[in-house]
Amino acid sequence: MKKELGNLLELQDIDLRIRKLNDEIAKGYGDLDERQGVIDARREEAADLAERLEVVEKEKSDVEHELEEETIRLKTRQTKLMNVQTNREYQSLLKEIEGTKADNKRREEEILRYTEIAEAMVAKIEELNNTSDAEESILAEEKSKVEDLAKDLEKQKAEIDKARSTKANKVKGPIYKRYEQLRERRNGIAIVGVTEGVCQGCFMNIPAQQFNEVLRGDELHTCPTCQRMMFHQPAEEQE
Ligand SMILES: [Zn+2]
Repeated sequence: MKKELGNLLELQDIDLRIRKLNDEIAKGYGDLDERQGVIDARREEAADLAERLEVVEKEKSDVEHELEEETIRLKTRQTKLMNVQTNREYQSLLKEIEGTKADNKRREEEILRYTEIAEAMVAKIEELNNTSDAEESILAEEKSKVEDLAKDLEKQKAEIDKARSTKANKVKGPIYKRYEQLRERRNGIAIVGVTEGVCQGCFMNIPAQQFNEVLRGDELHTCPTCQRMMFHQPAEEQE
């Protein structure tokens, strides 16, 4: 039974190392995804802004067009003014001219405002895109680093996997099956030490009688609380 326990502990140690490598690989890719997500969101913001810019440009060009037409009309009226016969006609034409002039002034101001808004939008879009470009090139470097690291970790894993199957073959079938079930259900820890009557997996006391049997180490015991397999671990051996 001592040998069986030793094999199980070594197997668990191997499995924990494999899990750590898997976690490291997943974390590397997870970080990349997260950063890509931030860049994508910024690109989307720039695209939305570009759409709104188009609307502003269209509105501005409409007003510009109006201004152009009204300026031509104004000139026509001003020419007409020199040829009117009656004072009443003159006054009414003059009023029209003044009205158009005021409208055109308002149009000019509007165009100026649209120009300012559009310029601010263009600057913001450029800023967003520049930031995204810079981050993307940094991310590309990071990505190749993560890929290299992952390759390296995968190589390490392949080595450990070999050691694992050798070790797994040394564990008896039913015990191996139980080990695998517990490993899945108990977050990778299927076999734990018992120190001074306390299970180091769930930190609950085990019955005194059972503890004595664990001390003898004749057979494999499981914790009544967390069901993990147990071995005796004297206090001084605790990590
Ligand atoms: Zn326990």
